[in-house]
Amino acid sequence: MAGQIKFQNVNYVYHEDSPDAHQALKDINLTLTEGSFTAIIGHTGSGKSTLIQHINALIKPTSGEVSVGDYVITHKTTNKNLRPLRQKVGMVFQFPEKQIFEETVIKDIMFGPLNYGATEAEAKQAALNAMDLVGLPQQYQDQSPIDLSGGQMRRVAIAGVLAMNPSILILDEPTAGLDPRGHADIMALVARLHDEMGITIILVTHQMDDVVQYAEQVVVMSHGEITKQGSPQDIFADLKWVRQMQLTLPTSAEFAEQLKLAGFPLPSRPLTLTDL
Ligand code: ADP
Repeated sequence: MAGQIKFQNVNYVYHEDSPDAHQALKDINLTLTEGSFTAIIGHTGSGKSTLIQHINALIKPTSGEVSVGDYVITHKTTNKNLRPLRQKVGMVFQFPEKQIFEETVIKDIMFGPLNYGATEAEAKQAALNAMDLVGLPQQYQDQSPIDLSGGQMRRVAIAGVLAMNPSILILDEPTAGLDPRGHADIMALVARLHDEMGITIILVTHQMDDVVQYAEQVVVMSHGEITKQGSPQDIFADLKWVRQMQLTLPTSAEFAEQLKLAGFPLPSRPLTLTDL
């Protein structure tokens, strides 16, 4: 049921019919093919979260439609029959460890499968597989999640999503607040889920070096609209545009190296803060 994700003329208004009405998405048209890796970038408030929450029908379009494989979501879609969609579309929210509430690691990871009708044995197997995928040693299974480090807790939270065996994974700033090592581990995991398991990845990020290194296509949002879309090469070819967007370009030597490897025109001198 995975298939492609398609937004057709999608508008979304928060608090419709109230004086606080706010149009957060304006006529969005977007197609993401099965197995693709898309980065969504843009300022805070540009509509990224609103957009991604349409893909598992946490939010339903005010007008227009979103389809995921043969599943169609419109403003008329009810919460009945959303289970197959929610199982296929995994969503890793910002700071997902905040949603950990069971007293052991394994119970937390088993929660999703159990809730979706798996037997205890099936859920446990799915949880152990997911722990393996995210690189959590099995001896952690009976520990209390609150005794783990921040990076490990984040892995538990991501394992809970992976235990549902999603074919689409949406991640909203999955490395926020992690140290460089934790960041690298999570991004390596995301790359593996894409490259080896064929999972469709949608990554909301402010980290342009990750966009360059991992994404196949980039969607740029501004004021509820998609203002640019293309390969990272297309998007970053014009560094002036990146400055206009006030996106943070890392200035490190590694970033310059990644730009070079990805075939970008390199700036003639190292980027500095005044470039941004
Ligand atoms: P981003 O993820 O890019 O930061 P959001 O999708 O969260 O952007 O927000 C898009 C716009 O919708 C912003 O103007 C934001 O203030 C508004 N918005 C987001 N959530 C709500 C809400 N629950 N009620 C009203 N307005 C909201």
